[in-house]
This record gives sequence, C-alpha cells and structure tokens, in this order.
Amino acid sequence: MKTMIETRELRFAYPADEGKEPVFALRGVDIAIEKGSFTVVLGHNGSGKSTLAKTFNAVLLPVGGKVYVEGMDTLDENLLLAIRQRVGMVFQNPDNQIVANVVEEDVAFAPENLGVPTEEIRRRVDDALKAVGMSEFVTHAPHLLSGGQKQRIAIAGVIAMQPDCIVLDEATAMLDPIGRQEVLSTIHKLNREKGITVVLITHHMSEAEDADRIIVMDDGRVAMDGTPKEVFTQVEELRSMGLTVPDTVDLLDRLRHSGVDVPLDALTVEACADVIAQAIARN
Ligand code: ADP
Ligand code: MG
Repeated sequence: MKTMIETRELRFAYPADEGKEPVFALRGVDIAIEKGSFTVVLGHNGSGKSTLAKTFNAVLLPVGGKVYVEGMDTLDENLLLAIRQRVGMVFQNPDNQIVANVVEEDVAFAPENLGVPTEEIRRRVDDALKAVGMSEFVTHAPHLLSGGQKQRIAIAGVIAMQPDCIVLDEATAMLDPIGRQEVLSTIHKLNREKGITVVLITHHMSEAEDADRIIVMDDGRVAMDGTPKEVFTQVEELRSMGLTVPDTVDLLDRLRHSGVDVPLDALTVEACADVIAQAIARN
C-alpha cells in the first residue's frame, strides 16, 4: 500500500490566551490514508476534524508528533510548496473561495501563482472544468452560479493544481440536496477516474456509506476507524459520541429490538429493503 498521508502521535494546540493553559485540539492521532482511497471523517462539533484537515497540507503544523505527505515531513519548510501542491482543500462556504469575476480566471488563479506557463494553464483549466462538469460555464460570473456549481468551480480550482489528494471540509454543508449530490458525484468520479485520494469531512451519514473507510474523531482523538459496515454497526458507541447512524441502520436496530431477526450491516436503502423482505418471507 502506498500512503498518501500519515500522522504519528500528532498533537496540536491553538495558542492560549494570556495566563491560560493551551487546549489541545489533537491529542495523539495516528492514521495512514492510502493513496487512491476515499476516506470520510466524522465527529461532533469541536472533535478536531478541521484542525486535523489543516495539518494535512501544512496550514497548521504539529506541536507534537509528525505529519507526512507522500513521505514529506510537513515541518520541513523546504517542502512546504510541494506539500501544498499535493493536497488541495475545499471549504464550507463557496462564496469565500471565489477569487475572480470569471470562472476561467478563478480556476486559473492557483496555477498562475505557481508560475505555470500560459499554454499549460489553458489546458489545465479546460481539463479541470470538464472533470467537474462545468465546461459550459467557462466565461460565466462565479458569483451568479448556484451553491453546488460554485463548489464544483472551487474543486476545479484545486484540480488545476494537479494535486494527488483533495480534502473537503464540510464542503456540502451549505448546499441544498441537489447541490450536495452534484458535489458528491463529482468527487466520487475524480476518485474513481483520476485516482485522486479524497478525504471528506461531513455531518451527513448518508455521504459516508460509499466510503472505503470511515474515521470517527472524538475529543481530539481517533475514536473509530474502519469500513462503513464496521463503524455504522457500532450503534451505541456512535450515539454515545453524539452521532447518529444512517436511517437504514437505525431502522434495522429498532427492528432487532422488537425481536425481528435482521442484520445491522445493510447500509444502503436497497440492501436494507432486501434483508427486511427476507425476514418477512421467513415468517
Ligand atoms: P471540528 O472541525 O471537528 O468542529 P475543530 O478542529 O474546529 O473541530 O476544533 C477542535 C477544537 O479546537 C475545539 O475545541 C475548538 O474550539 C478549538 N479551536 C478550533 N479553532 C480554533 C482557533 N482558531 N483558536 C482556538 N481554538 C480553536
Ligand atoms: Mg470543522
């Protein structure tokens, strides 16, 4: 397995107010994210998800332990540019990420700053807009687009940097269901077709069902780490951390408590319907 991002005993604290002890937002995190994988990070507010994400592209640096991006230590200043180019970030508010008045200029912004030659930028912008399904908007004004379209433009801006990994920090939180679906299918496609490693931080359990892996953060530590089936069948543990489970698992859990013999690990609506139908047929 090739590792995209690895953290070792990672600790981080924000600077404290005068006379106060610093509060650790990350208290010893050990994870390894495989290249080409799709990882979802869950956890209640304040559990450390955004802090963790920012250590992945050296926006925040460890105060203890290490973060390696494709083997590069984020504490090595000489590697900073290389690391930022490998790991792109997309944030919650689409409006805060628009930097130009025309879509193509917006997408070209980061590679231009890197000094990429004009011809190459032209090609990258076209490819990136195609990859997010926004080619026809190349000369549009970004601020007039829908939330989902704006986020896809933000993703195109990241893609134009040709990163190996994209980290999305609640990038669907402000979108309506259609916008959310647009963004989700776009990043799944980038993962599948371009092999881009995806780290998706989300509150929506339904966005986690298709992940290769789920990491649950709690109080600055990794509380759970496994496949969607492994994580979502720990119903009591998730609830104790203030998290919900997918509606499918909730339904199956209730049926089991009523004495119906169904498994818990049918996460999709289709799989859930199947196991309930089988239980009915057995009766
Ligand atoms: P999450 O993204 O899971 O909601 P965060 O990483 O934003 O969690 O926050 C983790 C902890 O760090 C929280 O206790 C939060 O209050 C604290 N924190 C986050 N950002 C800052 C900051 N800029 N300054 C001080 N404390 C912060
Ligand atoms: Mg956050």
